Parts: sequence; C-alpha cells; structure tokens
Amino acid sequence: MSKEFDVVVIGAGPAGYVAAIRAAQLGMNTACIDKWLDPNDKPSLGGTCLNAGCIPSKALLESSELFHRAQHEFADHGVQVDKVGLDLAAMQKRKSGVVSQLTGGIASLFKANGVTSFAGSGQVVDSGEVRYTDHEGKEDTFNAEHVIIASGSEPVALDIAPFDNDRIVDSWGALEFDEVPKKLGIIGAGYIGVELGSVWSRLGSEVTLLEAVDEFMPVADRDIAKEGLRSFRKQGLDIQLGARVTAAKANKKSVSVEYTQGDDSQKVSFDRLIVAVGRRPHTSNLFAKGAQVELDDKGYIDVNDNFRTSLPGVYAVGDVIGNPMLAHKGMEEGVTVAEILAGQKPHINYDVIPAVVYTAPEMAWVGKSEAQVKAAGNDYRIGQVPFAANGRAKALGQQGGFVKIIADADSDEILGVHMIGPYVSELVQEMVVAMEYRASSEDIARIVHGHPTLGETVHEAALAVDGRPIHF
Ligand code: FAD
Repeated sequence: MSKEFDVVVIGAGPAGYVAAIRAAQLGMNTACIDKWLDPNDKPSLGGTCLNAGCIPSKALLESSELFHRAQHEFADHGVQVDKVGLDLAAMQKRKSGVVSQLTGGIASLFKANGVTSFAGSGQVVDSGEVRYTDHEGKEDTFNAEHVIIASGSEPVALDIAPFDNDRIVDSWGALEFDEVPKKLGIIGAGYIGVELGSVWSRLGSEVTLLEAVDEFMPVADRDIAKEGLRSFRKQGLDIQLGARVTAAKANKKSVSVEYTQGDDSQKVSFDRLIVAVGRRPHTSNLFAKGAQVELDDKGYIDVNDNFRTSLPGVYAVGDVIGNPMLAHKGMEEGVTVAEILAGQKPHINYDVIPAVVYTAPEMAWVGKSEAQVKAAGNDYRIGQVPFAANGRAKALGQQGGFVKIIADADSDEILGVHMIGPYVSELVQEMVVAMEYRASSEDIARIVHGHPTLGETVHEAALAVDGRPIHF
C-alpha cells in the first residue's frame, strides 16, 4: 500500500531532521525515514551527530576534563579532594543519558510539528518515489512531490587496518570503550582523532596519534595549529606527524601497528586502535537500479545552488553533499532546502561557517587563515592578543592561547579570526556575527565588552589590529 506525502526526507541527522521540521512548519505533509539503531538495537533519531558524534564526544570530553581538573587543578584553587577516582561505567551511563534525552527530544519535536517518522531504510526509486523498508524487512512505497536526501556520512575504513569492532574501532566504537585502554593508538590527528585522544588521555591512556601528513591540522591557521600541537604534546599526547601506517593486526589482547616515518620503519603495540582518517558520503543502497543521481569525483552527491540533484524533484543536504562536514552546516542546509521548496529565497553564507575543535584548550576559527589571505593577494593587518592578559582567564586558571584577528589593510574588513584558548567555541560566534555583517576590526574595537570576560580578549585583538591594545 503506498502513502502520499509532500516531502519525504531520507535521514534524520542534523540536516534531515531540521529539513523535516522546517518543511512541516511551512505546511508540507512531511515524512522522515531513518535507519539508525542504538547499541541496544532501538531506532534512534539524530544521526551521527547525536548518536555517535558531536554529542557523545562532548559529553565524554566534559566528564574527562572534570576528572583531569579534579586531579591536577583543584589543589591550585585550594579545593582539597582526598581521592579522585574514576567510575567509567557511570561516565558512560551519563553520556548515554545525554544522548537519549536529545534523540528522544527529536522524536517529540517531530510529533509537535507533525512530521511522520519511520524507522527503517529509504531508497530513491524514481523522481517522487521512495521505497521504505522497515527493520523487519517489510516494504512500502511513499510518493512525494519532493524527496530530500540527508543520508550523511560514515567513517572511512582502511584495508590495512580493518575494523573488528573490538581492538580496531571507528570513532563510534571509541566512544563506547568499557575500560580505559592502557596504550591507545589513533590513526589520524584531525579534529576527531585529537578530541578522542584527549578524552582517553585525560582518563589515563597513553595515547599515540599517527598522522600521515607532515603538518598538524592543515585546515587550521598555522599559528593556532602550532600552539595546539605544542599544548597537546605538553599534555602527553604523542602526536607523530608524517607517520604512514602500513599494517595493523589485531589479536585477542592487542593490536600491532607498523608505520613508516621518513626513512624509518617502526612497529608499535597498542591495547586498542582507533581509525579516524575521515568520513565519506553515505550513499550505499540509497538508489534503486536506474535511479542514479550524479556524484562528484569523491562520491558526494552533486547539487546545484538550490540543493537539486540531477534527478528532478530530488534534493540533497548535509554531509552527503560534502564539505564542511559539520552539523551546523547541515542544519542550515536543512532549513534552506525546506524554505526553497516553499517558494522562499533563503541564503547560506558559506564563507562564515565556524569550525571548532573541542579540546582543552579549544580551537575555533571563522573565515580565511593567514595563508589563505596571503594567497588571495590581500594586504592585511593582524591583531593577536594572548589570554594571559585577560583577568577572567587568569581567574579560571586557563590563560593559555590567544585570539588572532586578520583584517584587510585598506578597508579594515575582518577576513578571518583564529582562536585557541578557554571557551573559544563560544567566543567565535561573536566574530561569525561580525563577519556576516562585514564588520571592520574598528567596529569590534568600539564595542563595549563586559568585564571581566573572555570576550575582552577578542576586543583587545581588534584594538591590536590598529596597534592600540590597552592590556597587552
Ligand atoms: P548524519 O548525522 O550522518 O545522519 C544521517 C542519517 O541518515 C543517519 O541516521 C543514517 O543512519 C541515516 N541514513 C543513511 N542512509 C539512510 C537510508 N538509506 N535510509 C534511512 N536512513 C538513512 N560536527 C559538528 O558540527 N560539531 C562537532 O562537535 C562534531 N563532532 C563530531 C564528532 C565525531 C566523533 C564525529 C564522527 C562527527 C562529528 N561531527 C561534528 C560531524 C557531524 O556529526 C556531522 O557533520 C553531522 O552528523 C552530519 O549530519 P547529516 O544529517 O548530514 O548526517
């Protein structure tokens, strides 16, 4: 028996669930199909982000940071704790609780907005036709004027280090460990590798990150990448750059890993190995025979400015259409595509999408790096001010890092902002707003910032662009 909808969304990650809610808000009869099953095989909305990405990783980052601070920083504050112990099962339970509150929240939002939710797989059969298969294998056909694909991404697997979901795991497996590995290896020192490395290092693992590229975090501005590398190494993360893993073999108790670095060949053994070498678009079984849409050379679904694929009436948003593969980019695309379907003319400014690495210190940026500004041929000025000059950072006991603002030398328009330090994930948002409104560094310099706040360092960096910081 077929069912009729205005819109069928495939995938309920940040891009899909937001698209579905917005479409329903705009009066469209909307269904959303998602196949995610939690570790207890129960359907769970929210996709990678809520179930196996942003949210569980941040819950564990927060808990492990508290554990670390209780051990190493409380005494400095005059807080005496006799014995700090770790209850990993309780930490994991709390994380799962945070995840289930949020995934359950999406189910409630669907209900409140009138989105019909289906647990199982969706497959595009043709323009306007989706085959739905539930988790018991029962099939149905959904007809819809518009189909939105938001099937997300999945971890890249390496032939030389195949996942066994025990000793060799992906990022999801790395969030589910039930004991702290004594020696933990991570292939890949991108943001996922560094965040997961930080969690387990704070809980007591000896962590080694093997990164094939010679530079640390090539996507980040060189100054914050350099400061991050220095700081993470000081915390005990053994970050090996230019280290190409050639083989990894798991046995019952350990994983042996071989890698080359320059002319050297190395062999190391870990209790567990995380493979965090990137994510690829999730398109398997998404299209029935004869319903192919065009993909780009990396396998992402090709879309035009209105998120239309090559198949009429079929749209795509989120990780499955490519970079930046971030939840907030996907959510914004979800809203935008629904509004386009409703005949509105929304717009996303891809030049001002913030990026954040949730380590301690955090790293965050928006706009162009200094290297990109240089390559674009702009004349520019820089204001860079350390958190060491900030009263609030001192009170927090977290005065490492800095804010760097890059502004056009002629117009003074802010071209990029790069931060490393306490809570920069929150501070960067001020500069996202500023750049959206094409603010100059002088605009920020003339705005009153509360005292004592970390935001004063942003203010000082803006003053420093013109060579007139007060506190540095
Ligand atoms: P997804 O979240 O991947 O959701 C896609 C959904 O579609 C899934 O539920 C999938 O099961 C379902 N699906 C796929 N195919 C079908 C089908 N045929 N039928 C039915 N359902 C289907 N991003 C940030 O912005 N901030 C962070 O802090 C952050 N941290 C991360 C940490 C980790 C460890 C990882 C792995 C990722 C992190 N990300 C973070 C990235 C973020 O999770 C993704 O960018 C985001 O989830 C993409 O959203 P999406 O909706 O496009 O896809």
